[in-house]
Amino acid sequence: MSSPRWQDAARATGLLAPDGRVAATIFAEMSALAARTGAINLGQGFPDVDGPDYVKAAAITAIREGRNQYPPGDGIPELRRAIADHQARHYGLAVDPDAEVLVTTGATEAIAASLLALVGPGDEVITLEPFYDSHAAGIAMAGATHVRVPLVPDGSTFRLDLDALRAAASPRTRMILVNSPHNPTGTVLTRAELEAVAQVARERDAVVLTDEVYEHLVFDGVAHVPVATLPGMAERTLTVSSSGKTFSFTGWKIGWVHGPAHLITAVRTVKQFLTYTSGAPFQPAIAQALADDDTPRALASSLASRRDLLLEGLETAGFGVSVPAGTYFVVADGGPLGFADGADLCRRLPELAGVVAVPVSAFCAAGSPTADAFRSRIRFTFVKREEVLREAATRLARLSPS
Ligand code: GLN
Repeated sequence: MSSPRWQDAARATGLLAPDGRVAATIFAEMSALAARTGAINLGQGFPDVDGPDYVKAAAITAIREGRNQYPPGDGIPELRRAIADHQARHYGLAVDPDAEVLVTTGATEAIAASLLALVGPGDEVITLEPFYDSHAAGIAMAGATHVRVPLVPDGSTFRLDLDALRAAASPRTRMILVNSPHNPTGTVLTRAELEAVAQVARERDAVVLTDEVYEHLVFDGVAHVPVATLPGMAERTLTVSSSGKTFSFTGWKIGWVHGPAHLITAVRTVKQFLTYTSGAPFQPAIAQALADDDTPRALASSLASRRDLLLEGLETAGFGVSVPAGTYFVVADGGPLGFADGADLCRRLPELAGVVAVPVSAFCAAGSPTADAFRSRIRFTFVKREEVLREAATRLARLSPS
């Protein structure tokens, strides 16, 4: 007997207890723990400084001017045009703002709607592991089968296991869900890794759904390569991004998906029966923001130095660290400090050091070899003010045995 899809979603994200109870997401659980204990919350990834005032002012003006009723289901024309212009300017992609772009309620809705539209029982969806929780939940809600390919530790970074990727493909592979820059590891997939994904997609006639919400938050001169720019891939790729990370308005939930018209038609059909539309006054504000390349550039450079600040604190405390090339996140290994179980460490960290993090096991399938490989690793966010990160570093130094 099949179980209800909500139970499948809870199971796929490790939230379904044997007694049938459902836990809150790891982000909600750890934010609540921080609130309860007064610990510094480096768990859930959201900035503690809002995006630019002129973008806020644009939203306020839009409310005053009466842009408060349903916007068009596809998103307002000026925002769809701004998204297409953004893709052309940054990546040389030719996107038709009328037939090939859909504004969504954050990237999360774009991903869920794409999965519900395009895959179902009997279909396999390949993702990286660790994976973002909503990706696994979306696959489960669509009734499809989740096939995972590990990222493996490689020096101070993580790399995609290309042999495992090829071995994971099958005649049932309908979709490959990629996420680069990657949450939680901060890995930015190389062109060669993405080429390998593209090759599998072409061989299996699969769609690539690519979550690129951290596209502008890359460091050290590393280049973000959109899957749709690879040869022959625009016609089979749905590219998802959002304004939340790029402009520090994560609560506005203005995201989008673009791709070939036939795929966008499929996603639109589902999306119109989920939220139909949202964010009326925020859409014109983000349309304006998307013409601004200075704000994301400044954010990336300040994030790179905040990453370094946190990395230094973690190393001083005695963690093993990997160096993220993008995102809001760094993954630290509690193993060298004697903490073999990251989930256990995260529960105790407020008491031990007055800081909250999230275990990487929450981004893995329960009991998988990757969950085992990442067992002692925990994720910290550095999208916080420097003084907050300095205080966290001071507190974490308490863990140091010396
Ligand atoms: N994207 C955020 C993170 O990875 C969490 C968003 C959420 O709470 N679902 O921390």
